Parts: sequence; C-alpha cells; structure tokens
Amino acid sequence: MTRADLTLQGSHLDALASTLLRADRMEHAAYVLYGVSHIGSDPFTQEPRIRLMVREVIPVTEDEITSSGFDHISWKTDKFVKLLARAEREGVQVGIAHSHPGGPTHFSDQDDANEAELARLAFNRNGTGALTASLLFCGDGSVLGRVWSSPDTFDDFTTISTIGPRWKRFSRRASDELDQAFDRQSLALGQEFTAIMRSLRFGVVGGGGTGSPILQQLPRMGAGFIGVFDPDTVEDTNLNRLYGATRADADDHRKKIEVARREISEMALGTRLETFDGWVGTEQYQDALKSMDVIFGCTDDHDGRALLNRLAYYYHIPVIDLGLALRVAEQDTERRLEAEGRVTILEPGSACLLCRRIVNPSIAAEEALRRNDPSEYERRKKEAYVRGEGNPAPAVISFTTSVATMAIEELIQRLTGFRGPDGSVSNRVRKFTRIEDVRPGAMLQPCRICGQSHIHGLGDTKPFLGRVG
Ligand SMILES: [Zn+2]
Ligand SMILES: [Zn+2]
Repeated sequence: MTRADLTLQGSHLDALASTLLRADRMEHAAYVLYGVSHIGSDPFTQEPRIRLMVREVIPVTEDEITSSGFDHISWKTDKFVKLLARAEREGVQVGIAHSHPGGPTHFSDQDDANEAELARLAFNRNGTGALTASLLFCGDGSVLGRVWSSPDTFDDFTTISTIGPRWKRFSRRASDELDQAFDRQSLALGQEFTAIMRSLRFGVVGGGGTGSPILQQLPRMGAGFIGVFDPDTVEDTNLNRLYGATRADADDHRKKIEVARREISEMALGTRLETFDGWVGTEQYQDALKSMDVIFGCTDDHDGRALLNRLAYYYHIPVIDLGLALRVAEQDTERRLEAEGRVTILEPGSACLLCRRIVNPSIAAEEALRRNDPSEYERRKKEAYVRGEGNPAPAVISFTTSVATMAIEELIQRLTGFRGPDGSVSNRVRKFTRIEDVRPGAMLQPCRICGQSHIHGLGDTKPFLGRVG
C-alpha cells in the first residue's frame, strides 16, 4: 500500500462541486487531468508516496451519458480513451469524478467494478505507469478519492487539499486527542485548526533571521512535521536576531539546523523535525521538498528562491516567501532608516517572484556559479564580471520577527479564514516607518512560470522543475 494524496486549486474544487452536485440531485460525472509527484522516500516516514495535482476538469456532457438517476450514472468511455492519448502526449494522467448527492458517502460496488475497467483501459493504452484517480463528491459536503495503480489495486487518498485563497483539507483520519498545551490556541482558532497543524508537513528554507522566529512559532502552534534546510553555521553577527542561538554556538561554529533541533526538542510539543544541512536545491532533497504541504521561504539567496518559485507552480505546494529590506539613507547630516517587510504567497493564481521583481535571475546565475565552480567565480569577480557578495545587510530582531509573524498570520488566514472571505493577501509589504501595510501588484504580463497553466500541477518532469543546469 502506498500513501497517496491529492491537491487541487480552489477554482477546480468549485468547478467540480458545481458540475457534480446540482439542484437536480442526480448523479453527475467529470473527467480530471492531473500531474503526478512520485516521492521515493518521504523524509518523515522513509516510505514512498504519490501525490496527484489536478490540472483540468472536463465535465461529462449529456450526450455521453447512457443512463443516470438519483443513485447511479453510466456514460460512454470514448472520451476517456481520447483523453488517454492526450495524457500520454502531455505527460499527465486521466481520472474521473462523480457524485452521490443522496449518499452513500463511500464508493459503491458498482463504482469498484466500473473503475477497475477504466484502470484496465488506461493500463492497456498507456502502460503500467498509468494511474487512474477517482474522486467522489457526496451530498453531505464530504469529498473522498482513491487512485488505481493497476486494474486490481487502489489506494485511498489520505488527504485531499486545496490551494488558493483558502487551504481546505478533506481528510479521513480521526483526530487524535490534543495536547493541553494547545488549549488556549484552540479557544481562539478552534480544535480543527490545531488538528490540521498536526497533519501538515512544513518546509522552512533558511533557519536565520526570519526562519528562526518561524521555527519558534510553528511547533508552539502544533506543527506535526517540520523540515529545515540551511547549510550555515552560527556566527557572532547572527546573535542579534537568531532565536535560540548562544555565544557558545557561535564559538563552536554550530550549524543553525542544530540550534533549531535543540530548541524544538526541548519544547517537547510533539513536532517531528528533519534537518537538511545543504543548499535547498541539492538533488538529494527533491523528495523532501516534494513531500511538504507548505514551505516558508526564509532565504536570501536568489537561486534558492528561484527554485522554490518553480516548485510552488509545478507541484501545487504553496510557498510563503519572506523578505526584509533595511536601508539607511544619509541626507545631509541626517540618518534615515527605510524598513520594509514583505510576505508573498506563491501558488497558481498568484504572480510569482520573477513577475514581482523579487528574484533577480542574473544574481541567481552568479550564485549558482559560486556554488558549482568557485574558481571560475573568483576569476570573474577579480575582473568585475560578477558583483560579489556586497556589504552585509542591516538586520534588527523586531523587524525580522514581525515579518515572520506576518507570514504565520497568512497561514492562519488560509487555514481558517479568520479575516473573512476576502482576507487572503498574496503580496503584503509592511512599511515599518510609516506604520502601514500595502499590497503592491505585479507585472501586467505574467511570465512563463506563473502565467502558463500548462506547468501548473505538472509534477515530475525531466529535468526537475524544468530547470537546466
Ligand atoms: Zn458511485
Ligand atoms: Zn511570473
């Protein structure tokens, strides 16, 4: 048995719900195209997993239906076979979705038989790698599903979740008894929130200025699983803002991930932590990244950000990217501090970091050169072809913490809607000196990553994320 889950954009969930659950209370059906993420080894279980990402919803039309009623539906499979050909060309998979408006809230024996037959068609047409997913929308609002990996084997989805303005989760798991430590939080946000936090896998890329306050907050909010990526060691110049770090850590050149491990283990709040002490784009980390449900981008490096930027769109994994810019302007004899904090959500439907001019591709290329060919990088630096690391950036703990908290609040909003139905913000900039938040827009023409739906939810490709080099 393989653990399987599925993610879909909120707009796809709405399209499926309105197609399948209609006022006529009859059963309806649709085809679904989706990309696949094969995870060789989940970092928290060491087990293989698959995750499917919905890309397109195609309703089954009246003329295809051979018979339907309040408790059954059957339709011609011609279009299924045509879609199998298209799926093979596009490197994606085909599935179905149908409804039980009046129950039962589970797949019927007839569903089992029909789906096995479709799985056989897919197997014969597209080979043994074909995966046939099936979603069931029930009249009580529940959504469940499964994926057939052969005509006689299927795995139920452990979770079906949405991305977009709201991150909803449909899960079969009964919630465990919650630790008293989270009682006060549950009073504010409900027990359901803490239960969801328990089930989520959080990636935190960068355990420094903005990453360390995230790593303090997530476990105290009940986070069940955290993976931290950071190759750096603690230095004296970090001690003004790195939560948990001590002078001894700096003296001993302790890794930032070790500080995170010590802090989270001493909290003893039931968080499982996995640490990765290399650059986030390291090939061996691909499974770990693909296993995450939400990623906090707390890194300053442009190449790392560029990678997470693609991951969000290819794999339907929302990335909450954090940035802090402090500048000191000297005017006449006066010092004036400019301080801006930024939280940007990356996912299909929102503009990406390239379109918001937050990632600079030429700096990203220089960083890649420094990592992959240090001597060539040094040579170019001497000749001033690359700009070098520059001066250290100013940093103050109150501002780094404030940005981290803005990011966590966006997570709470997406999971609970506490700010109301229009309260989710995909790009928020806090002007600390003016005590105000603004929402800057992006370039009018979206780029080849965020603007092209053909890569959204595409999942596994060669090369990984379509990145060359
Ligand atoms: Zn059915
Ligand atoms: Zn873009």
